[in-house]
Amino acid sequence: MNNQTVQDTVQKNKAVKKYLNFINGEWVESESGRYTRNTNPVNGEVLGEVVASTKADVDKAVQAAKEAQKKWRNVPAPERADFLYKVAYLLKERKEELAQTLTLEMGKVISEARGEVQEAIDMAFYMAGEGRRMFGDTVPSELRNKFAMSVRVPVGIAGLITPWNFPIAIASWKSLPALVTGNAVVWKPASETPFLAGEFVKIYEEAGLPKGLVNLVYGSGGEVGNAIVEHPEIDIVSFTGSNEVGKQINGRAGELLKRTSLEMGGKNAVTVLEDADIDLAVDGIIWSAFGTSGQRCTACSRIIVHEAVKEELEQKLLKRMETLKVGDGLDESVDVGPVINRSSLERIHSYVKIGKDEGAKLLKGGEILTDNGLDKGNFYAPTLFTDVKSDMRIAQEEIFGPVASIIPVQSLEEAIEVNNSVEFGLSSSIFTGDVNRAFQAMRDLDTGIVYINAGTTGAEIHLPFGGTKGTGNGHRDSGVASLDVYTEWKSVYVDYSGKIQRAQIDNY
Ligand code: NAP
Repeated sequence: MNNQTVQDTVQKNKAVKKYLNFINGEWVESESGRYTRNTNPVNGEVLGEVVASTKADVDKAVQAAKEAQKKWRNVPAPERADFLYKVAYLLKERKEELAQTLTLEMGKVISEARGEVQEAIDMAFYMAGEGRRMFGDTVPSELRNKFAMSVRVPVGIAGLITPWNFPIAIASWKSLPALVTGNAVVWKPASETPFLAGEFVKIYEEAGLPKGLVNLVYGSGGEVGNAIVEHPEIDIVSFTGSNEVGKQINGRAGELLKRTSLEMGGKNAVTVLEDADIDLAVDGIIWSAFGTSGQRCTACSRIIVHEAVKEELEQKLLKRMETLKVGDGLDESVDVGPVINRSSLERIHSYVKIGKDEGAKLLKGGEILTDNGLDKGNFYAPTLFTDVKSDMRIAQEEIFGPVASIIPVQSLEEAIEVNNSVEFGLSSSIFTGDVNRAFQAMRDLDTGIVYINAGTTGAEIHLPFGGTKGTGNGHRDSGVASLDVYTEWKSVYVDYSGKIQRAQIDNY
């Protein structure tokens, strides 16, 4: 689509909007009567308002979910999946419109926004397919005339709490597996990206999903998110976001003996060995470090490079960074959009100061951009540090902005050690021309996702997504693994011998 066409349709859809909660199949005001404003990170323009809900709204949503789930759990899974196919086709039909809404409220460049909506489409088709799979086990019984099997059953009500950086992809990774396995959903989206949440729920509504199965409650994390965690009738809380909030949720949910699935931060690294294709590595690093303005959980914020090729890599990265255009993501020629809000901008800038104070060498960037109208929005210059030591704060803590640090090493073994030296374990990548070293890295890099000769980002929905160590609590989004989050295993034994047979006793 050319630039002018994008701008025209955006203008057409740009009237200030108002979004309400969706509870029990109705678009409703909040009990609070209060609203918050949604703004464009490019220029601070008010895009619309959103209800600011309270615990009372969550209570209503849970009651609706409870009633709906009683029936839904007994709807045959292939029939449940038929709704998901409808969702998939509607997402496909609206792809461009959704992508523009995404860019408008969140800022990522339009090509990436289209990619994100595509991820939700892929997930909808994939999870619809699960309606006819959802495999359990049948195993031979140790006793005669007895049958043994395991089946998945829904957990009940899933409370979903999602972040702003992938507002539709992550919502699809959670809501679609929850629904196809027979659960009902109460969803609190991030306060920064309410519109896309509303548009996604409209698609569920239009697909004819029975009322009460998907409930959307807008509001702050402290109020609505917390009410979801505390609610005794919400059986599972699936959360993606920061470690700070994730730990808090897990602590409270633990006391309540509530299941949680947590996907949290990352401090992902690209390793470049001396036998790597350096131009390819540069492409991978630029895409992973500065795409989505460095605000992907899988963003590359560390570049671990063999000393023999450090200088070449630095020069080539600097050359490519010169060509990056920063601006409004709706402009097809822009490479890097704004960051989400003012406080993010300031946090990123404070990390750059920390890096300088720690003795890292700033090669490029390191400033808030203000020229050519960028001062109206939240724009940070793509930034590169070098001669960074692995124990510096900029090499250990998640910055969540377009800032990458080069860490020189002398061997593959050292690179792996540096890669694994952080509290997170989401994604890692290695560039090498040696298949033996690639396999050694695949085995030893301690992250949930490993890429060989590609950047740290680019997950596909039919494999599990998530991380080790401080990134998560062992669960995974997307892929078949996501079914484990929303189901319990039930083991069923059918004895057709006509007598009581005692396992472990009668046959030995
Ligand atoms: P965040 O501040 O932790 O917020 C995430 C969600 O939690 C939002 O909906 C937020 O609501 C809500 N929340 C805030 N405080 C809460 C509380 N006390 N109780 C319950 N819910 C609460 O994270 P973010 O800034 O949106 O997202 C960035 C983080 O997400 C980064 O750390 C990134 O690495 C991580 N992330 C991880 C993955 C992954 O799969 N591992 C994927 C994407 C992002 P409000 O918006 O109203 O504050």
